[in-house]
Parts: sequence; C-alpha cells; structure tokens
Amino acid sequence: MSTIPSSEIPDQLDPLRRRPTPAPYSGPAEGKRAAPTDIATALMPVVLRPPLVMARGQGSYLWDEAGRRYLDFVQGWAVNALGHSAPEVQTALAEQSSLLINPSPAFHNRPAIELSRLLVQLTGVAQVALLNSGAEANETAIKLGRKWGQRYKGGAFGIITTHGAFHGRTLATMAASGKPGWEQLFPPYPPGFVKVPFGDLTAMERAIDPSSVAIMVEPIQGEAGVVVPPDGYLQGLRELADRHDLLLILDEVQTGCARTGPFLAQEHAGIRADITTLGKGLGAGLPVSAVLANARAACFGPGDNGSTHGGNPLSSQVALAVCRVLSAPQFSSRVRARGELLDRALGRLAAAWGRANTRGQGLLRALIFEDPVAELLCEKARLAGVLVNAARPHILRFMPQLRVSRAEIDELERGLATAHRQL
Ligand code: PMP
Repeated sequence: MSTIPSSEIPDQLDPLRRRPTPAPYSGPAEGKRAAPTDIATALMPVVLRPPLVMARGQGSYLWDEAGRRYLDFVQGWAVNALGHSAPEVQTALAEQSSLLINPSPAFHNRPAIELSRLLVQLTGVAQVALLNSGAEANETAIKLGRKWGQRYKGGAFGIITTHGAFHGRTLATMAASGKPGWEQLFPPYPPGFVKVPFGDLTAMERAIDPSSVAIMVEPIQGEAGVVVPPDGYLQGLRELADRHDLLLILDEVQTGCARTGPFLAQEHAGIRADITTLGKGLGAGLPVSAVLANARAACFGPGDNGSTHGGNPLSSQVALAVCRVLSAPQFSSRVRARGELLDRALGRLAAAWGRANTRGQGLLRALIFEDPVAELLCEKARLAGVLVNAARPHILRFMPQLRVSRAEIDELERGLATAHRQL
C-alpha cells in the first residue's frame, strides 16, 4: 500500500492540519470561569467546565493533566460507587473484554443472566431490563407504565411526577422532570405528565384522575439539592397507588445501589415500588442501568423494548462485580456509619460558618446555605484541591465513593474550611 505524502493531502482532508492548533492555556483569572471553548473547541459546549483536563483517578482522588491532585466528593455525579478505577471494576473489564463484549441483544449472555438474577435476589422483584443510562431506564419505566395502562386500565397513560424532580434528558424524561426552566428548552414535550409539589401527599391525591396510570418520584430528590421528603411520604405514595390502582415508580438512579445505605433507598421506608430504576452506581463508572419490575408491573413482551448496548456482557459483568461488593455483609451499615461521619463533619462546618444547614441520608448529603454562595465555594474548594458539586446556587452536594475513609472525610472538612475562608 502506498502512502500519500502529507504535502499532497488537501488541507480540508487532513485531520491533523484541519484541526486548529490550540493556543497554550494560560489559566483564567482567579475566580472567573473560563469560556467553554478555551480547551475543547470541537466539543459542543453543553456543560460549563473549569479550565482543566482530568487525566487519572484512583479511589477518592483525581489528578488533572498538570498533575494536581483533587479529593473527589463528586465521583462522576454519584457514579463511581467504589471509587475511581476500582480493582473489582478493572478485573471484571479485563476478564470479560477478553471473552466477549457484545454478541448482540438477540442472544443471551451469561453476565446479563447472572446480573438480572442477583438484582431479583437483592430486591425481590420479578423481572429486570438492562439498559445504559438513567434516562434510558426511566424512559423504559414510563413505557412499561403505559403498556400496563393499555393492558389493565383502559389505555390510561398519565404519570404524576413532582416539581424539582430529575428523571433524565430524553424528551419524555424531561417532560417527567420538574427542573426549573426546562419547559422552555425543547417544546413540545410528550403529553401525559402532571406535576405536584414533592413531599405533598394531598396534592398527589388531588392530581389523580381516570387518565392516571402511575406515580413517579425519587425517594430523595438528588439534583434538586438532596431534598428529603417528610417521614411517611413514600409509605403514603404506596398507599395512594394501591387505593387508586396505580403503579408506583421510584427513580433510584441516584439513591439506589447502596448510596443511602441499603441497596434501595425505599427500604428505609419499608415499602416496595412496582417499578424501580437504577443507574449511576450500578456500573461504578461504566454506563449501565436497570428497570426492576414486580410481578404486577412486568408486562413487556417481545418487541416492546430494546437497546443495542443494553445488557451487553462487558457492562453486565462490571455491574455484577459491583452488586456483589454492595451486597456483601456489613457494606450497608458501613455506608450508614460513613454517612453519619460526613454529616457530623458538615454539621461542624455549618455551625462554625453560621450560615448553613445539612441534610441527606447515607453518603448523599448537602449543605444548604442561606445565600447563593455554592458556585463560588465550589470553585474555591477546587482551587484548594477538593471537588464538590453546587447542585443549586445555595446548595453544595456531596456524593463520595461508598468506601470513602474517615481520613478522607477529615480532609474534606479541612479543605472546605480553607475554601470558605477565601470567600
Ligand atoms: N434520575 C435521577 C434521579 C438522576 O439523578 C439522574 C442523573 N442525574 C438521571 C435520572 C439521569 O441519568 P443519566 O444521566 O444516566 O441519564
């Protein structure tokens, strides 16, 4: 095969020459956000990112390309349940990738069979669908609810959701979400979603009508800033769903997979949803999600759903390894104990600052400020080598890996104290 000398390749066909040479980055002025195009000119600027590139992760730490180390209490937005590059994930990836990556969803594969069995065993559901993202799992849950409505409720398709909810970024899951400002983003949205205030059982009951087929909520609203509902809320929703013959769909994409202690957050309330969705922590960094349905709700048949990558052996083997760790004896109580430690550390900071409160459960926690300082504090913390997330202008969210150590929680406390002094 002859090679064409590069001087003979027209400029527009030469990928090396077509790409503009990036200007060396000199860093933004202190406290200012860099324009999103500064580093990644070819990426759609859909997320405002700070001017650095992450290069390596290990456990609770991340390193950027400049070699700076960060203590990470964001963990891929509550994704790396076992920390960055967990050994169990590495082993599962290495072993499975040398065996089989995807035979296509038209064939069974052993890891998907084993993963679905373990999820059934851990949660008591009847059937599981394996998918790739939280949004895809929720979209599938919505479709399962609609199928159930066609079959058992005369075509009812209405789903009652809550203000402030986050269920994903497909059009239907955006319609189900209650994120402020989203109504204006990409209308028109699919119909069939009604929203009521989170935590309000009376409003939920009032919204039920003959078109309703399901109630869909997060046990704790994560993206809204770790909003914990009043005691009895989930039990009340279960009771409403039973009394009005509706499905209860719990989006546990953020709260599930032991994030709050038990494998599912609904276990705190002693209830079971008809449909539960999982994502984020399930793959400990790999994109894998699941829809769990009890016998009442599981009504999909061949042709009703599908996903080219869903349930592929590589992701399934990783999720299987993750679920084995999460379901080991003592794992849940250790998460709870670490969650208490984190809560105490945040409580000490809040008391010292006199301008904040804490809330949350397990290792999903937040500091709620009286004033909108979260973004700036987040940035100062990053400059002090600590990564946290500003879920809302006045809310900092903490989602460390589930094996976070006492020493790392102490380090977070010191880092945040330093950052707060620079406000
Ligand atoms: N549901 C909840 C509760 C979430 O927190 C998120 C992500 N933040 C999603 C769904 C969407 O998940 P994904 O980004 O994987 O689609």
